[in-house]
Amino acid sequence: MNIHEYQAKQLFAQFGIPVPKGKDVRTPLGAEKWSTTLDSPVYVVKAQIHAGGRGKAGGVKLTKDRAEVPGLARDLLGKTLVTHQTGPKGRKVRRLLIEEGAAIAKELYLSLLVDRDSGWPVFIASTEGGMEIEEVAATTPEKVLKEPIDPAVGYQSYNGRKLAFGLGLPTLEPAVLNPFISMLGNLYRLFMEKNASLVEINPLVITQDKLLIALDGKVSFDDNGLFKHPDVQAFRDLHEEEPLEIEATNNSLNYVKLEGNIGCMVNGAGLAMATMDVIKLAGSEPANFLDVGGGATKETVAAGFRILLKDRNVKGIFINIFGGIVRCERIAHGVIEAAKEVGIKLPVVVRLQGTNAEEGRKLLLESGLKVDVATDLWEAAQKIVAMTGRKRAKAAASAHTTP
Ligand code: ADP
Ligand code: MG
Repeated sequence: MNIHEYQAKQLFAQFGIPVPKGKDVRTPLGAEKWSTTLDSPVYVVKAQIHAGGRGKAGGVKLTKDRAEVPGLARDLLGKTLVTHQTGPKGRKVRRLLIEEGAAIAKELYLSLLVDRDSGWPVFIASTEGGMEIEEVAATTPEKVLKEPIDPAVGYQSYNGRKLAFGLGLPTLEPAVLNPFISMLGNLYRLFMEKNASLVEINPLVITQDKLLIALDGKVSFDDNGLFKHPDVQAFRDLHEEEPLEIEATNNSLNYVKLEGNIGCMVNGAGLAMATMDVIKLAGSEPANFLDVGGGATKETVAAGFRILLKDRNVKGIFINIFGGIVRCERIAHGVIEAAKEVGIKLPVVVRLQGTNAEEGRKLLLESGLKVDVATDLWEAAQKIVAMTGRKRAKAAASAHTTP
Protein backbone atom coordinates (compact mmCIF):
# COMPACT_ATOMS: atom_id res chain seq x y z
CA MET A 1 0.00 0.00 0.00
CA ASN A 2 1.16 3.49 -0.81
CA ILE A 3 0.44 6.69 1.08
CA HIS A 4 0.59 10.42 0.35
CA GLU A 5 3.57 12.66 0.99
CA TYR A 6 1.76 14.53 3.79
CA GLN A 7 1.08 11.22 5.53
CA ALA A 8 4.68 10.07 5.06
CA LYS A 9 5.77 13.33 6.64
CA GLN A 10 3.47 12.74 9.61
CA LEU A 11 5.19 9.38 10.11
CA PHE A 12 8.62 10.99 9.68
CA ALA A 13 7.79 13.54 12.40
CA GLN A 14 6.60 10.74 14.67
CA PHE A 15 9.97 9.01 14.23
CA GLY A 16 12.08 12.11 14.77
CA ILE A 17 12.91 12.77 11.12
CA PRO A 18 12.81 16.56 10.50
CA VAL A 19 10.20 17.80 7.99
CA PRO A 20 9.01 21.31 7.06
CA LYS A 21 6.04 22.66 9.00
CA GLY A 22 3.00 21.87 6.88
CA LYS A 23 -0.59 20.68 6.71
CA ASP A 24 -2.86 18.97 4.21
CA VAL A 25 -5.85 20.97 2.96
CA ARG A 26 -8.69 20.28 0.56
CA THR A 27 -9.91 23.76 -0.28
CA PRO A 28 -8.38 27.13 -1.24
CA LEU A 29 -9.89 28.53 1.96
CA GLY A 30 -8.10 25.84 3.98
CA ALA A 31 -4.88 26.72 2.17
CA GLU A 32 -5.35 30.39 2.99
CA LYS A 33 -6.12 29.73 6.65
CA TRP A 34 -3.14 27.47 7.15
CA SER A 35 -0.72 29.75 5.30
CA THR A 36 -1.44 32.55 7.80
CA THR A 37 -0.10 30.32 10.57
CA LEU A 38 3.21 29.89 8.73
CA ASP A 39 5.97 32.39 9.16
CA SER A 40 8.20 31.73 6.21
CA PRO A 41 9.89 33.67 3.39
CA VAL A 42 8.64 31.04 0.93
CA TYR A 43 5.35 29.11 0.81
CA VAL A 44 5.03 25.80 -0.98
CA VAL A 45 1.79 24.36 -2.42
CA LYS A 46 2.12 20.68 -3.32
CA ALA A 47 -0.35 18.39 -5.09
CA GLN A 48 -0.95 15.17 -3.14
CA ILE A 49 -1.21 12.20 -5.48
CA HIS A 50 0.32 8.72 -5.26
CA ALA A 51 3.01 9.48 -7.83
CA GLY A 52 6.33 11.22 -8.04
CA GLY A 53 7.56 13.63 -10.68
CA ARG A 54 5.05 16.27 -9.55
CA GLY A 55 7.64 19.04 -9.61
CA LYS A 56 8.32 18.68 -13.33
CA ALA A 57 4.60 18.30 -14.09
CA GLY A 58 3.69 21.59 -12.38
CA GLY A 59 2.34 20.02 -9.19
CA VAL A 60 4.72 21.85 -6.83
CA LYS A 61 4.37 25.65 -6.62
CA LEU A 62 6.57 28.02 -4.66
CA THR A 63 5.74 31.62 -3.83
CA LYS A 64 7.19 34.36 -1.63
CA ASP A 65 3.83 36.08 -1.44
CA ARG A 66 1.44 34.52 1.05
CA ALA A 67 -1.51 36.18 -0.71
CA GLU A 68 -0.85 34.00 -3.75
CA VAL A 69 -1.34 30.72 -1.85
CA PRO A 70 -5.15 30.46 -2.24
CA GLY A 71 -4.89 31.15 -6.00
CA LEU A 72 -2.23 28.48 -6.47
CA ALA A 73 -4.36 26.08 -4.45
CA ARG A 74 -7.39 26.87 -6.64
CA ASP A 75 -5.32 26.19 -9.80
CA LEU A 76 -4.12 22.80 -8.57
CA LEU A 77 -7.24 21.40 -6.88
CA GLY A 78 -9.33 19.34 -9.27
CA LYS A 79 -6.61 19.39 -11.90
CA THR A 80 -5.42 16.11 -13.46
CA LEU A 81 -1.67 15.83 -13.14
CA VAL A 82 0.23 13.72 -15.64
CA THR A 83 3.72 12.79 -14.45
CA HIS A 84 6.10 10.09 -15.63
CA GLN A 85 4.73 7.88 -12.86
CA THR A 86 0.98 8.37 -13.38
CA GLY A 87 0.62 6.93 -16.88
CA PRO A 88 -1.11 8.94 -19.63
CA LYS A 89 -4.43 9.12 -17.75
CA GLY A 90 -2.87 11.09 -14.92
CA ARG A 91 -4.30 11.54 -11.44
CA LYS A 92 -6.80 14.00 -10.11
CA VAL A 93 -5.59 16.32 -7.36
CA ARG A 94 -7.99 16.26 -4.41
CA ARG A 95 -5.67 17.40 -1.67
CA LEU A 96 -2.72 19.71 -1.21
CA LEU A 97 0.12 20.03 1.24
CA ILE A 98 0.83 23.63 2.22
CA GLU A 99 4.23 23.93 3.81
CA GLU A 100 7.12 26.20 4.61
CA GLY A 101 9.72 26.58 1.92
CA ALA A 102 13.26 25.52 2.74
CA ALA A 103 16.32 27.51 1.68
CA ILE A 104 18.06 24.67 -0.12
CA ALA A 105 21.87 24.51 -0.15
CA LYS A 106 22.14 20.90 -1.37
CA GLU A 107 19.70 18.17 -2.42
CA LEU A 108 20.54 14.54 -1.55
CA TYR A 109 18.78 11.24 -2.25
CA LEU A 110 18.09 8.70 0.50
CA SER A 111 15.97 5.57 0.58
CA LEU A 112 15.62 2.29 2.44
CA LEU A 113 14.12 -0.76 0.79
CA VAL A 114 14.36 -4.54 0.72
CA ASP A 115 17.12 -5.89 -1.47
CA ARG A 116 15.52 -8.85 -3.26
CA ASP A 117 18.79 -10.72 -3.68
CA SER A 118 20.03 -10.70 -0.11
CA GLY A 119 16.65 -10.26 1.55
CA TRP A 120 18.22 -7.53 3.71
CA PRO A 121 17.09 -3.93 4.06
CA VAL A 122 19.45 -1.70 2.10
CA PHE A 123 20.03 2.06 2.31
CA ILE A 124 20.54 3.80 -1.00
CA ALA A 125 22.01 7.29 -1.01
CA SER A 126 23.31 9.74 -3.55
CA THR A 127 24.56 13.30 -3.78
CA GLU A 128 22.31 13.66 -6.85
CA GLY A 129 19.06 14.40 -5.01
CA GLY A 130 15.93 15.82 -6.59
CA MET A 131 16.52 13.77 -9.75
CA GLU A 132 15.12 10.39 -10.66
CA ILE A 133 17.41 7.87 -9.03
CA GLU A 134 16.93 5.43 -11.93
CA GLU A 135 18.45 8.02 -14.24
CA VAL A 136 21.39 8.63 -11.88
CA ALA A 137 21.94 4.87 -11.66
CA ALA A 138 21.90 4.54 -15.45
CA THR A 139 24.22 7.45 -16.27
CA THR A 140 26.50 7.72 -13.21
CA PRO A 141 26.21 4.46 -11.27
CA GLU A 142 29.22 5.37 -9.13
CA LYS A 143 27.09 8.12 -7.56
CA VAL A 144 24.62 5.61 -6.11
CA LEU A 145 25.79 4.26 -2.77
CA LYS A 146 24.38 1.18 -1.10
CA GLU A 147 24.62 0.07 2.50
CA PRO A 148 22.92 -3.22 3.40
CA ILE A 149 21.80 -3.73 6.99
CA ASP A 150 21.96 -7.14 8.59
CA PRO A 151 18.45 -7.43 10.11
CA ALA A 152 19.74 -9.72 12.85
CA VAL A 153 22.02 -6.93 14.08
CA GLY A 154 19.98 -3.89 13.04
CA TYR A 155 21.24 -0.47 12.05
CA GLN A 156 24.56 0.54 13.60
CA SER A 157 26.06 4.02 13.47
CA TYR A 158 29.03 2.72 11.47
CA ASN A 159 26.54 1.99 8.67
CA GLY A 160 25.56 5.65 8.75
CA ARG A 161 29.19 6.83 8.91
CA LYS A 162 30.05 4.75 5.87
CA LEU A 163 27.27 6.37 3.86
CA ALA A 164 28.00 9.86 5.21
CA PHE A 165 31.65 9.62 4.21
CA GLY A 166 30.73 8.06 0.88
CA LEU A 167 28.53 11.08 0.17
CA GLY A 168 31.34 13.42 1.22
CA LEU A 169 29.25 15.02 3.99
CA PRO A 170 32.30 15.92 6.13
CA THR A 171 33.43 18.31 3.39
CA LEU A 172 29.97 19.20 2.05
CA GLU A 173 28.65 20.23 5.46
CA PRO A 174 30.19 18.78 8.63
CA ALA A 175 27.33 20.16 10.77
CA VAL A 176 24.90 17.59 9.32
CA LEU A 177 27.13 14.56 9.88
CA ASN A 178 25.68 13.49 13.23
CA PRO A 179 22.09 14.44 12.39
CA PHE A 180 22.44 12.31 9.22
CA ILE A 181 23.69 9.28 11.16
CA SER A 182 20.85 9.47 13.67
CA MET A 183 18.29 10.17 10.93
CA LEU A 184 19.24 6.88 9.27
CA GLY A 185 18.62 5.12 12.59
CA ASN A 186 15.15 6.69 12.82
CA LEU A 187 14.39 5.75 9.23
CA TYR A 188 15.39 2.17 9.93
CA ARG A 189 13.16 2.09 13.02
CA LEU A 190 10.20 3.40 11.01
CA PHE A 191 10.86 0.85 8.26
CA MET A 192 10.98 -2.13 10.62
CA GLU A 193 8.27 -1.12 13.10
CA LYS A 194 5.72 -0.28 10.42
CA ASN A 195 6.53 -3.15 8.02
CA ALA A 196 7.40 -0.76 5.23
CA SER A 197 8.77 -2.03 1.94
CA LEU A 198 10.14 1.33 0.83
CA VAL A 199 10.94 4.64 2.46
CA GLU A 200 12.27 7.26 0.09
CA ILE A 201 13.31 10.86 0.73
CA ASN A 202 14.04 12.67 -2.51
CA PRO A 203 15.21 15.27 -1.92
CA LEU A 204 16.72 15.15 1.53
CA VAL A 205 18.09 18.69 1.78
CA ILE A 206 20.85 20.49 3.59
CA THR A 207 19.52 23.99 4.18
CA GLN A 208 21.50 27.21 4.20
CA ASP A 209 21.11 27.11 8.00
CA LYS A 210 22.92 23.75 7.94
CA LEU A 211 19.86 21.71 8.83
CA LEU A 212 18.93 18.38 7.34
CA ILE A 213 15.25 18.21 6.27
CA ALA A 214 13.11 15.69 4.40
CA LEU A 215 11.46 17.80 1.67
CA ASP A 216 9.66 14.89 0.02
CA GLY A 217 8.52 11.54 1.39
CA LYS A 218 7.34 8.32 -0.10
CA VAL A 219 6.48 5.27 1.99
CA SER A 220 5.10 1.94 0.76
CA PHE A 221 3.97 -0.83 3.08
CA ASP A 222 3.92 -4.58 2.85
CA ASP A 223 0.20 -5.41 2.55
CA ASN A 224 0.74 -8.63 4.50
CA GLY A 225 1.83 -6.62 7.53
CA LEU A 226 -1.01 -4.09 7.40
CA PHE A 227 -3.22 -5.98 9.84
CA LYS A 228 -0.73 -5.09 12.58
CA HIS A 229 -0.97 -1.36 11.92
CA PRO A 230 -4.42 0.26 12.16
CA ASP A 231 -2.73 3.68 12.08
CA VAL A 232 -1.21 2.87 8.68
CA GLN A 233 -4.49 1.39 7.40
CA ALA A 234 -6.15 4.70 8.25
CA PHE A 235 -3.83 6.36 5.70
CA ARG A 236 -5.41 4.39 2.87
CA ASP A 237 -6.83 6.60 0.11
CA LEU A 238 -9.21 4.58 -2.06
CA HIS A 239 -9.33 7.38 -4.67
CA GLU A 240 -5.76 6.42 -5.55
CA GLU A 241 -6.55 2.75 -6.14
CA GLU A 242 -8.10 0.87 -9.06
CA PRO A 243 -11.81 0.35 -8.12
CA LEU A 244 -11.83 -3.24 -9.46
CA GLU A 245 -8.77 -4.07 -7.38
CA ILE A 246 -10.52 -2.75 -4.27
CA GLU A 247 -13.56 -4.95 -5.00
CA ALA A 248 -11.26 -7.94 -5.53
CA THR A 249 -9.47 -7.35 -2.22
CA ASN A 250 -12.85 -7.17 -0.46
CA ASN A 251 -13.63 -10.62 -1.93
CA SER A 252 -10.20 -12.06 -0.98
CA LEU A 253 -9.21 -12.32 -4.65
CA ASN A 254 -5.78 -11.53 -6.02
CA TYR A 255 -6.54 -9.27 -8.97
CA VAL A 256 -4.41 -6.89 -11.00
CA LYS A 257 -6.02 -4.95 -13.82
CA LEU A 258 -4.16 -4.88 -17.13
CA GLU A 259 -4.90 -3.41 -20.53
CA GLY A 260 -5.76 -6.44 -22.73
CA ASN A 261 -9.19 -7.91 -23.62
CA ILE A 262 -9.15 -11.52 -22.40
CA GLY A 263 -10.33 -11.79 -18.81
CA CYS A 264 -8.56 -14.63 -17.00
CA MET A 265 -9.70 -16.58 -13.96
CA VAL A 266 -7.12 -19.04 -12.68
CA ASN A 267 -6.33 -20.94 -9.49
CA GLY A 268 -2.80 -20.35 -8.26
CA ALA A 269 -0.50 -17.40 -8.97
CA GLY A 270 2.02 -19.42 -10.96
CA LEU A 271 -0.64 -20.86 -13.27
CA ALA A 272 -2.16 -17.37 -13.59
CA MET A 273 1.20 -16.02 -14.80
CA ALA A 274 1.60 -18.94 -17.22
CA THR A 275 -1.94 -18.36 -18.51
CA MET A 276 -1.14 -14.73 -19.27
CA ASP A 277 1.99 -15.82 -21.13
CA VAL A 278 0.04 -18.35 -23.19
CA ILE A 279 -2.60 -15.76 -24.12
CA LYS A 280 0.17 -13.49 -25.37
CA LEU A 281 1.77 -16.36 -27.25
CA ALA A 282 -1.56 -17.10 -28.92
CA GLY A 283 -1.62 -13.51 -30.16
CA SER A 284 -3.75 -11.54 -27.71
CA GLU A 285 -3.39 -9.70 -24.40
CA PRO A 286 -4.70 -10.59 -20.93
CA ALA A 287 -7.10 -8.06 -19.38
CA ASN A 288 -5.99 -8.97 -15.90
CA PHE A 289 -4.20 -11.24 -13.50
CA LEU A 290 -6.71 -13.09 -11.30
CA ASP A 291 -5.86 -15.81 -8.86
CA VAL A 292 -9.01 -17.20 -7.25
CA GLY A 293 -6.87 -19.23 -4.85
CA GLY A 294 -6.57 -22.88 -4.00
CA GLY A 295 -9.90 -23.02 -2.16
CA ALA A 296 -12.05 -21.45 -4.87
CA THR A 297 -15.80 -21.71 -4.15
CA LYS A 298 -18.96 -20.81 -6.04
CA GLU A 299 -18.89 -17.42 -4.28
CA THR A 300 -15.30 -16.63 -5.25
CA VAL A 301 -15.95 -17.70 -8.85
CA ALA A 302 -19.05 -15.48 -8.97
CA ALA A 303 -17.16 -12.54 -7.50
CA GLY A 304 -14.41 -13.14 -10.07
CA PHE A 305 -16.94 -13.12 -12.92
CA ARG A 306 -18.50 -9.90 -11.69
CA ILE A 307 -15.12 -8.17 -11.55
CA LEU A 308 -14.07 -9.42 -15.00
CA LEU A 309 -17.38 -8.28 -16.52
CA LYS A 310 -17.07 -4.79 -15.05
CA ASP A 311 -13.92 -4.26 -17.09
CA ARG A 312 -15.18 -2.79 -20.37
CA ASN A 313 -12.10 -4.00 -22.24
CA VAL A 314 -12.98 -7.65 -21.60
CA LYS A 315 -14.23 -9.37 -24.77
CA GLY A 316 -13.92 -12.99 -23.66
CA ILE A 317 -13.23 -15.02 -20.51
CA PHE A 318 -10.67 -17.74 -20.08
CA ILE A 319 -11.00 -19.97 -17.02
CA ASN A 320 -7.99 -22.15 -16.37
CA ILE A 321 -8.21 -24.53 -13.42
CA PHE A 322 -5.78 -27.17 -12.34
CA GLY A 323 -7.63 -29.30 -9.84
CA GLY A 324 -5.51 -30.35 -6.91
CA ILE A 325 -7.04 -29.82 -3.50
CA VAL A 326 -9.84 -27.99 -5.26
CA ARG A 327 -11.77 -30.53 -7.32
CA CYS A 328 -12.74 -29.68 -10.90
CA GLU A 329 -16.41 -30.69 -10.57
CA ARG A 330 -16.77 -28.20 -7.72
CA ILE A 331 -15.35 -25.46 -9.90
CA ALA A 332 -17.68 -26.53 -12.72
CA HIS A 333 -20.65 -26.21 -10.36
CA GLY A 334 -19.34 -22.81 -9.31
CA VAL A 335 -18.96 -21.68 -12.92
CA ILE A 336 -22.46 -22.89 -13.86
CA GLU A 337 -24.20 -21.28 -10.91
CA ALA A 338 -22.17 -18.09 -11.13
CA ALA A 339 -22.69 -17.82 -14.89
CA LYS A 340 -26.45 -18.17 -14.43
CA GLU A 341 -26.47 -15.67 -11.61
CA VAL A 342 -24.28 -13.06 -13.28
CA GLY A 343 -25.59 -13.61 -16.82
CA ILE A 344 -22.62 -13.86 -19.17
CA LYS A 345 -22.98 -12.87 -22.81
CA LEU A 346 -19.30 -13.05 -23.71
CA PRO A 347 -17.48 -16.12 -25.09
CA VAL A 348 -16.12 -18.30 -22.29
CA VAL A 349 -13.50 -21.05 -22.56
CA VAL A 350 -12.98 -23.31 -19.56
CA ARG A 351 -9.94 -25.52 -19.36
CA LEU A 352 -10.04 -28.12 -16.61
CA GLN A 353 -7.25 -30.48 -15.67
CA GLY A 354 -6.42 -32.55 -12.62
CA THR A 355 -8.68 -34.01 -9.95
CA ASN A 356 -12.12 -34.91 -11.33
CA ALA A 357 -11.55 -32.96 -14.55
CA GLU A 358 -13.63 -35.41 -16.59
CA GLU A 359 -16.61 -35.02 -14.27
CA GLY A 360 -16.26 -31.24 -14.36
CA ARG A 361 -16.18 -31.11 -18.15
CA LYS A 362 -19.26 -33.30 -18.35
CA LEU A 363 -21.17 -31.01 -16.00
CA LEU A 364 -20.28 -27.97 -18.07
CA LEU A 365 -21.21 -29.63 -21.36
CA GLU A 366 -24.57 -30.74 -19.98
CA SER A 367 -25.35 -27.42 -18.31
CA GLY A 368 -26.76 -25.78 -21.41
CA LEU A 369 -24.40 -22.84 -20.90
CA LYS A 370 -22.61 -21.47 -23.91
CA VAL A 371 -19.14 -22.33 -22.71
CA ASP A 372 -16.37 -24.03 -24.60
CA VAL A 373 -14.62 -26.79 -22.71
CA ALA A 374 -11.00 -27.75 -23.25
CA THR A 375 -8.37 -29.98 -21.70
CA ASP A 376 -5.24 -28.66 -23.33
CA LEU A 377 -3.92 -25.24 -22.32
CA TRP A 378 -2.54 -24.25 -25.71
CA GLU A 379 -5.68 -25.36 -27.51
CA ALA A 380 -7.83 -23.46 -24.99
CA ALA A 381 -5.79 -20.27 -25.36
CA GLN A 382 -6.01 -20.40 -29.14
CA LYS A 383 -9.77 -20.93 -28.88
CA ILE A 384 -10.44 -17.90 -26.72
CA VAL A 385 -8.14 -15.73 -28.85
CA ALA A 386 -9.98 -16.83 -32.00
CA MET A 387 -13.37 -16.21 -30.35
CA THR A 388 -12.46 -12.68 -29.29
CA GLY A 389 -11.17 -12.17 -32.80
CA ARG A 390 -8.47 -9.71 -32.03
CA LYS A 391 -5.00 -10.86 -32.88
CA ARG A 392 -2.19 -8.46 -32.24
CA ALA A 393 -1.06 -6.72 -35.40
CA LYS A 394 2.41 -8.25 -35.15
CA ALA A 395 1.16 -11.81 -34.76
CA ALA A 396 -1.33 -11.32 -37.60
CA ALA A 397 1.38 -9.87 -39.85
CA SER A 398 3.80 -12.73 -39.23
CA ALA A 399 1.00 -15.25 -39.78
CA HIS A 400 0.37 -13.55 -43.11
CA THR A 401 3.88 -14.01 -44.38
CA THR A 402 4.04 -17.67 -43.40
CA PRO A 403 3.64 -19.73 -46.57
P1 ADP B 1 8.25 15.26 -6.79
O1 ADP B 1 9.34 14.32 -6.40
O2 ADP B 1 6.93 14.61 -6.93
O3 ADP B 1 8.62 16.09 -7.99
P2 ADP B 1 9.10 16.90 -4.53
O4 ADP B 1 8.42 16.96 -3.21
O5 ADP B 1 10.38 16.18 -4.58
O6 ADP B 1 8.05 16.33 -5.59
O7 ADP B 1 9.29 18.40 -5.04
C1 ADP B 1 9.98 18.73 -6.22
C2 ADP B 1 11.02 19.79 -5.95
O8 ADP B 1 10.40 20.95 -5.42
C3 ADP B 1 12.06 19.39 -4.94
O9 ADP B 1 13.15 18.70 -5.53
C4 ADP B 1 12.49 20.71 -4.36
O10 ADP B 1 13.49 21.30 -5.16
C5 ADP B 1 11.23 21.55 -4.45
N1 ADP B 1 10.53 21.59 -3.14
C6 ADP B 1 9.62 20.72 -2.68
N2 ADP B 1 9.21 21.03 -1.43
C7 ADP B 1 9.90 22.14 -1.10
C8 ADP B 1 9.95 22.97 0.09
N3 ADP B 1 9.19 22.72 1.18
N4 ADP B 1 10.79 24.02 0.08
C9 ADP B 1 11.56 24.31 -0.99
N5 ADP B 1 11.56 23.58 -2.12
C10 ADP B 1 10.73 22.52 -2.18
MG1 MG C 1 10.64 14.09 -4.93
